[in-house]
Amino acid sequence: MASIFSNVSRVKVGPATETADLRRRVKEDTHPNKVDLGAGAYRTDEGKPWVLPMVKTVEVQMAADMTLNHEYLPVAGLPAFRTAASALILGKDNPAILENRLEGIQVQGGTGGVRLAAEFLKRNFGSDIVYVSKPTWGNHKTVFIHAGFSQIKEYRYWDAKNLGVDFEGLKEDLQKAQEGACVILHAVAHNPTGNDPTMDQWSQIADIIGARKLFPLFDCAYQGFAGGDLEADAQVVRYFVKRGFELFIAQSFSKNFGLYNERVGNLCIVTKTPDVIPQIRSQMEIIARTMWSTTSHHGARVVATILGNPAYFEEWKAQVATMANRIKEMRQMMFNKLRQKKVPGSWNHILQQIGMFSFTGLTPDQSRVMVEKHHVYMLLNGRINMAGLTTKNVDYVVDAIQDAISSH
Ligand code: PLP
Repeated sequence: MASIFSNVSRVKVGPATETADLRRRVKEDTHPNKVDLGAGAYRTDEGKPWVLPMVKTVEVQMAADMTLNHEYLPVAGLPAFRTAASALILGKDNPAILENRLEGIQVQGGTGGVRLAAEFLKRNFGSDIVYVSKPTWGNHKTVFIHAGFSQIKEYRYWDAKNLGVDFEGLKEDLQKAQEGACVILHAVAHNPTGNDPTMDQWSQIADIIGARKLFPLFDCAYQGFAGGDLEADAQVVRYFVKRGFELFIAQSFSKNFGLYNERVGNLCIVTKTPDVIPQIRSQMEIIARTMWSTTSHHGARVVATILGNPAYFEEWKAQVATMANRIKEMRQMMFNKLRQKKVPGSWNHILQQIGMFSFTGLTPDQSRVMVEKHHVYMLLNGRINMAGLTTKNVDYVVDAIQDAISSH
């Protein structure tokens, strides 16, 4: 007998996301030189995942702590985590914190933060239009579509000719944006381009956002990854708060704590006045209650413990810097090899870009050669994860780039 779902036209296999498809192909590929530059996760120089030693220490302590239990957390999440996470991005003496104009809601990673923000805005905000950078992290558009936004619009961001931010295009598009819409901004280390506006450009962006009455949602998935400096990576968000904007920040702790599968995130809410915080929190809690009811404990506890202990915090900071520095070294090494091997192009952009990703400038056809012929897995838009490069595979990757460019 046929299933009742067999005649429902909507119930069909959807397209695999490009990253999930790459992950599957990498796993199945038996080629000895295969290289995974597709996954958005840190790897050691041995090409392995890294459990941060500071995280491990706290996990061992937690396992031995007989006072811990598995009781439900509050709907809004672990209080110590929410406070510590918000202080990490804004600085603990930020006026928004001191004046109680801030709330943190624990969410399922950065994705959960973006989704909760979208759900809240859809229900409680005058606009169901969102602006995202072109290009942006693949999930931004789909999250907002699934939250019921009627229009997902793009503002220009990447100048493919000059391999940098198309600032004039960005300004022009935001100046024409629908008043009152939401705009997603990458707080640091833009994914996928690795190119951020300068502070002077950010101040102009803030002017436009203010003039057009747009609502900024900062996506902050890489604090610490841009250059190993947590404060520097928070400066854009702090600048907007200082300018008096009301905003949300979707913080992810997947990358900077290496806690990818623990789903640790904080949706940080900053308002002009403290009186609206209880209402906003309540509406967020209603949404959270119907989506995941209450949050999970383990990862949030690890983060809260490390952020709340000055000695642990210093150790963790050094480990974040270790990751950021290895990525920087790989940038330099790849750049040197591209130059030594006289691969066409200046490749300066590889050094100028920051964070985990590089937008190589390879075309979709060239990227396809990388994947199909050389088993170097990367996105077709030319994005590579610099952390997937190692001292052992960089020559192979550069030779593959040379071949891909010469064949197209
Ligand atoms: N936002 C951006 C810009 C990202 O690059 C990522 C991860 O790749 C996320 C959000 C998702 O983070 P999480 O894994 O914590 O959900």
